[in-house]
Amino acid sequence: MIYSHTQIAQYLRCPRSYRHRYLDGWRERETRAAMVFGRCFETALAAYFQGDDCTAALFKEWGVFRDTPFEYKKGESWDRLVHQGVHLLQKFVQDDRVRIHHPERDLQVKLARELPGNNEFVAYIDAMGELDGERCLIDWKTTASRYSEEPEGLLSLDPQLICYSWISGISDVALVVFVRKNHPEIQYLKAAITDEQRREYGRLVDITVGQIETGQFPPHSGIRFPQNGCMSCPHLGLCLGNQELISTNLIRKPGASNLDWLDELVD
Ligand code: SF4
Repeated sequence: MIYSHTQIAQYLRCPRSYRHRYLDGWRERETRAAMVFGRCFETALAAYFQGDDCTAALFKEWGVFRDTPFEYKKGESWDRLVHQGVHLLQKFVQDDRVRIHHPERDLQVKLARELPGNNEFVAYIDAMGELDGERCLIDWKTTASRYSEEPEGLLSLDPQLICYSWISGISDVALVVFVRKNHPEIQYLKAAITDEQRREYGRLVDITVGQIETGQFPPHSGIRFPQNGCMSCPHLGLCLGNQELISTNLIRKPGASNLDWLDELVD
């Protein structure tokens, strides 16, 4: 079995949701424009590091979805997203703070680690390069709102960065956050992950995989107001037996568990 951070995180959020998704093959429909746009934007970033025209790459990738009936948030549209994306790419090039010396090797880097019981853990790291001249592991994010920078050190608790540090053994990590707003902003956020955090993440993976393999999938419904995790869970229709919600949000993909490691590509 191949595991990823996405799987571990989903199990920890709600084991029942994990079962719906990874054992029974219920996948969320891809209807959110921002998510698909984020992937197109990352392809444009890769084009930049490979010495190609990143704006043309963005138009090409995002152009495929021009007439796709996505859900756009209020104030968003296909044109608006591409406009914001172009501004962010221009700003990123002007800032010139990130260097990837070997893009063919250091973008979308696949790392794997053996787990007990013939299992494997796989992660795809967006980039390994330099931020402000310092070598680090880099994760790109596109978002409509800024990431919190306070209190100091908050980023060092980010579980995805801790996972990447654990699997790579690299302490220095960074998020480069592309904030889509009227005046585009790019946050360059750095953190250092400790040995202890890496050890703890390894233990968390072992414990979680152990629970999955012994078939423990209780619902963590989180019904307390106002943080009701079920409201944002794509599997809500399955838990409520609501066929309308199931049809709106999900598609069934039997046998999906063999391809679960591909999830890292869409993070
Ligand atoms: S709807 Fe709630 S209980 Fe059901 S899978 Fe989602 S988070 Fe878990």
